[in-house]
Amino acid sequence: MTLLDGKATSEQIKLEIAEKVREIIARGGQRPHLIAILVGEDGASQTYVAGKERACQQVGFDSTIIRYPDTVDQSTLLDKIREINSDPNVHGLIVQLPLPKHIDEQLVINTIDPSKDVDGFHPENFGRMVLGLPTFVSATPFGIMELLERYKIETSGKKCVILGRSNIVGRPLANLLSQKGYPGDCTVTICHSRSKDIKSITLDADIIIAALGVPEFLKGDMVKEGAVVIDVGITRVKADNKAGFKLKGDVLFDEVAPKCSYITPVPGGVGPMTIVSLLKNTLRASGN
Ligand code: NAP
Repeated sequence: MTLLDGKATSEQIKLEIAEKVREIIARGGQRPHLIAILVGEDGASQTYVAGKERACQQVGFDSTIIRYPDTVDQSTLLDKIREINSDPNVHGLIVQLPLPKHIDEQLVINTIDPSKDVDGFHPENFGRMVLGLPTFVSATPFGIMELLERYKIETSGKKCVILGRSNIVGRPLANLLSQKGYPGDCTVTICHSRSKDIKSITLDADIIIAALGVPEFLKGDMVKEGAVVIDVGITRVKADNKAGFKLKGDVLFDEVAPKCSYITPVPGGVGPMTIVSLLKNTLRASGN
């Protein structure tokens, strides 16, 4: 079994991005600038945004976090997005999800200028991804594709089962993995909460991607020998430690790992790859 080390891979990618930033600055170019809008006090969202800011600093990007209380008006948020859309000193804009219930998330996404939508959530960018056109591929699927590529994992003709059909993970991944070329050409099956007998489906899979948000859903007896397993899940479960929680993936690692040819850990697998993919999209948004 080989560990798909997202942490080490992402550190390598950060070095590559930092080198590009040095070249940009040396030729008098503009430093890439990412803005993150954070609404409310959700602990996980704050951690994610702080991680993105830290990664920006590591590679030499400018980064700004704009914070609003969870009582913020939708119109205030939309006005701020429009202002950032027209600011030539900002290249990438993300709005950390989820948003409070009184705010229309899709409207917020639709208001971001597609050329600054480095999360790849805008319908224009999502549509371009589906058509296989150059675009901002959303960070988690992008990071998973890159991890497969960097470890040279064979995908052509492989049976790939994706657990979860969200717009930010399962659905875009299914599309990317079924596209022509490497890493793609998979025969893809998507499972969701209405799927029946998921075990019989995963047992037949060469590649399993678990993106459910159900801790330790994928057990050892659901995986065939030699499978590649990618664990996207991150759920905070109560723990008797200082933080009061620990992170659990969607895969019961101790049972599944011995059967795998490759597997991602949680943490240190998909999470860090997601962050560097956001950096890559921001670099691209800055015209580099
Ligand atoms: P989501 O929007 O809640 O979608 C979960 C999907 O799983 C849905 O399609 C749901 O089916 C399906 N599902 C839930 N319970 C199921 C069950 N018991 N059996 C079969 N299908 C089930 O979640 P998401 O945003 O895609 O995130 C999934 C997980 O990945 C979460 O733990 C999240 O924290 C994590 N995540 C990690 C990263 C990262 O950077 N590592 C990035 C994004 C997300 P229905 O559609 O039928 O409801």
